[in-house]
Amino acid sequence: MRAALLHGPEDLRVEQIGEPSGEVLVRVQAATTCGTDVKMWRHGHPILPPYPTAFGHETAGVREDTGERVLVGDSVACGTCRPCAAGRTQICREPRWVLGGFAERIAAPEAALHAVPDGLEPAAAAMAEPLAAAVHAIARAPGRPLAPDAGVIGGGPMGQMLAALLVAEGRTVTLADPHRERRAQAEAAGAMTAARLSDHDVVFEAVGRPAAWRAAVQACAPGGCVVLVGGCVPGSDASLPTRPLHYDELDVRGAFHHSREEVDRALALLSEGAVDWRSLAAGPIGLEELPAALAAGNAGPARKWVVVP
Ligand SMILES: [Zn+2]
Ligand SMILES: [Zn+2]
Repeated sequence: MRAALLHGPEDLRVEQIGEPSGEVLVRVQAATTCGTDVKMWRHGHPILPPYPTAFGHETAGVREDTGERVLVGDSVACGTCRPCAAGRTQICREPRWVLGGFAERIAAPEAALHAVPDGLEPAAAAMAEPLAAAVHAIARAPGRPLAPDAGVIGGGPMGQMLAALLVAEGRTVTLADPHRERRAQAEAAGAMTAARLSDHDVVFEAVGRPAAWRAAVQACAPGGCVVLVGGCVPGSDASLPTRPLHYDELDVRGAFHHSREEVDRALALLSEGAVDWRSLAAGPIGLEELPAALAAGNAGPARKWVVVP
């Protein structure tokens, strides 16, 4: 079968390889690209197996054994480590990562698979993976009734998904991003936009840079909550202003990945039309076009390339 294999940083080749082995073979109908793929392509990534390696972690397709349409979840939690025992499977210490969506077929453990609701297109189903991370990030903000005024820093795909979900919940949302195209996308989803944020009940950081973490703390109202969604380069340190953390009693929380239930929730939200996934979709493209798509990086409008192998 054909697969896009990473041989090293910025060295992606489409090759003929043997069938993958694993519990369930899934014929890939759509795999979407994400910022993590750009990072993997450019620098490698801690969860990648040794080169040459298949990658791609937002994958939807059809089971070869049963014909059922599935989303291939990108990880399976161990179920026994301390976070798993506490019900926080998204920070499992020993997850099995399931990569390899940029190929004609992917092998996955049964436990990684999710049924795709009828009528939901493969590209939309693939996007349930990142959308589940947005669902999780919103769940990380404490407090019911909901904090009505939310800020989002960063208008990439994750920031756009957060904004869309927050708007769908009936909150007032303001998104900050320096790119005009990205602000226009957020406005089309019902958010307001601003050059800088200030005084929001809850602030979601979706950039993954220490300066943005700091801006998120500065943009939070007294007693509010900051949710840090963007992962920074390994080894990064962020210096945060101490005054609001202490005197304004800000809650600062990390949000990473998602649980199995949050993936199913994301599939349901997409199926209900809560998020306009088409506004984030670019392509479709074939495997051969993937290197150029990744090289284009994360600039310009927020977009996820839909790869149809
Ligand atoms: Zn992703
Ligand atoms: Zn675990």
